[in-house]
Amino acid sequence: MNQSKINHTSGINKFMIGQDIKQTAGQLRRKNLHQLSGRLLFCLTLTLGLAASLLAASPLTQNKAIQSSPVNSREKLVQQFMAKGLRENYAFALLKKLTALGPRLTASPQAAAAVEFMRQTMIDLGLENVHLEEVEVNRWRRGDQEKCFLVSSALGTHPLAVTALGGSVGTPPQGISAKVLEVHSFEELKNKAAEARGKIVFFNQPMDPTLLDTFRAYGQVARFRSLGASAAARVGAVAALVRSPTTANDDFPHTGMMRYQENVPRIPGLCLSTRSADFLSQALKSDPQLRVYLWTNCRNLSPTTSYNVIGQITGTTKPNEIILLGGHLDSWDLAQGAHDDGAGCVQAVEALRLIKSLGLRPKRTIRAVLFMNEEFGGSGGRDYVRHPNRRQEKHLLALESDRGGFRPLYIGLRATPALWDLVKSWEPLFQKMGLIGFQKGGGGVDIAPLNAQGTILAGLIPDCQRYFDVHHSALDTIDSVNPRELELGALAMSLLAYLLAEEWPE
Ligand SMILES: [Zn+2]
Repeated sequence: MNQSKINHTSGINKFMIGQDIKQTAGQLRRKNLHQLSGRLLFCLTLTLGLAASLLAASPLTQNKAIQSSPVNSREKLVQQFMAKGLRENYAFALLKKLTALGPRLTASPQAAAAVEFMRQTMIDLGLENVHLEEVEVNRWRRGDQEKCFLVSSALGTHPLAVTALGGSVGTPPQGISAKVLEVHSFEELKNKAAEARGKIVFFNQPMDPTLLDTFRAYGQVARFRSLGASAAARVGAVAALVRSPTTANDDFPHTGMMRYQENVPRIPGLCLSTRSADFLSQALKSDPQLRVYLWTNCRNLSPTTSYNVIGQITGTTKPNEIILLGGHLDSWDLAQGAHDDGAGCVQAVEALRLIKSLGLRPKRTIRAVLFMNEEFGGSGGRDYVRHPNRRQEKHLLALESDRGGFRPLYIGLRATPALWDLVKSWEPLFQKMGLIGFQKGGGGVDIAPLNAQGTILAGLIPDCQRYFDVHHSALDTIDSVNPRELELGALAMSLLAYLLAEEWPE
């Protein structure tokens, strides 16, 4: 992760952004020829075996079919989507390649490589208007492996599994050794403020296991991770240790973004694995005088430039009206971000590939946006909305997939009554894909800035029982993703985007 490498890779991206697609026309023509012969082969296969499918696969007949006999043709459409998606499992194949590039921490060389890889993938798939848009991003480096030990005259010395939080300052070079104050809420910290001076504050509030919605349980404790260090510093503490926000009981600490508040000393913030948190809590009961030794050399660097990756299927009659599908391309650095959010990125690309390869050409534009820097402040979403390219565009609906590549259960959306009635009428189609249906509410960090422009926000809502087992930890790897579950999410996004692009209520 040295500086020269970063600049080198960013340089490539800058070069690419300046290149109009036309400049690689020769390359594209060759690709198009290749794709054309591929398509011809595909059509021949269909002629032999599936004459009926071939009729439906032609763009003209497809659109006509939808208009003349909506119910039957939509059901046929679902069958086509399902057959193609589940046979080919392209989303997983793409995720495998993406995760092979390594963890995609914002502003890392691997994140830059992922930008270029996804841009090239979109071009290879024949998507249109494939380009990069600049995003200003913060830069933070974990540095070397953190060290953390419990040191007790009664219990001995024991290692604790920790990970520095994104944005945290490092410890002094000699590390920090201090007594520990365990608390379970900010309120409790306030009450025990007098005891905190010179100590490490240990926030040990577990995620509520009784809540079915693990995102709700996560929301209740994630604030200790994001705000704990400043709260501890305000009462004179020297560092903050936070129990990992996960329902799993294991030795894997979960990282994530933390923020320093103004006019408060900046002290290190780290997360402990759940087992280490339980161990420390137990040890404190038998030896309240024990000390914890901490060492990290993470640091913040100056901001730099990265990119959102964009590609689309341009609408035939209303090209400036856009249905956006998105995920975020950056990840944390402890693993390859397979679920968070490689899954959402490959689903968005696969959704467009399915529409295109079934020969469908929607009236309105369907766009995939792979946002950069969701994890480190959400600047990808903000810069997307501010970009001059947006001036001529109207985003009707934006759907984000950023809840893992698990089996999709719902699509959540903040719909107008007319749109709500329309999508509810499509529910049986989505039930054929294994979803329960539509629910109210939904959105995502990256698409949230579009809300101010009147865009309807939506989110893919998969089963959330296992997401926080892997979220922001070393366990978020490709082998934790099921290809079929991932593909089902892409299928639902694809079908919804296509139907909306065709039948948006005026
Ligand atoms: Zn995410």
